[in-house]
Amino acid sequence: MTASHLRVAGLEPGTSTLRRTAHREIDHDAVQSAARELLRALGADVEDEGLAETPRRVADAYSELLTPRPFRATTFANDGYDELIVARAIPFHSLCMHHLLPFHGVAHIGYLPDKSLIGLSKLGRVVELFARDLQIQERLTTQIADWLDEELEPKGVGVVLEAEHLCMSLRGVQKQGAKTVTSALHGLVRDDARTRQEFLALTTRTSHDQ
Ligand SMILES: [Zn+2]
Repeated sequence: MTASHLRVAGLEPGTSTLRRTAHREIDHDAVQSAARELLRALGADVEDEGLAETPRRVADAYSELLTPRPFRATTFANDGYDELIVARAIPFHSLCMHHLLPFHGVAHIGYLPDKSLIGLSKLGRVVELFARDLQIQERLTTQIADWLDEELEPKGVGVVLEAEHLCMSLRGVQKQGAKTVTSALHGLVRDDARTRQEFLALTTRTSHDQ
């Protein structure tokens, strides 16, 4: 197989990928002062030795959680493969835009190829591209499916995310370990009963089967 084209997702200016991801400028110093103010507002003694480095660490942590790593989304010409391609249980973590708390879980991604294939290892990077953002799970699911649609123009795409939201499980809204499941099915993965069943059978097994 030879690469038919290379694309640096998240780097190349003017690509569709760039327009769809929030490439924010993070003002590290401002995040540090805001974190210090937050600690103060929470009643913490900001002069406490144990908190001396906390604002910097908070700024580092948020910067990392909100900055996707650029990657080459290499696609290949497909010479006749016409079955579903599924990558199961890709781990991911993201940041809930409502509480600034993490949600984490696994992504199952499938597509029915047409003219293009993508390296399986790249699917995890596509998830990360959109997960390192202030997110809600539904939008993350849709963004991954839309990206695959636009970059690969496949006959169908399916994305299922299962995640635990700390904003829910830590606050007792939801039992610890309970999963929120979201899905986006496009093209034949949505419209063709056999393909849809195959995709859902591959992606909705219980975690015991993984
Ligand atoms: Zn939340």
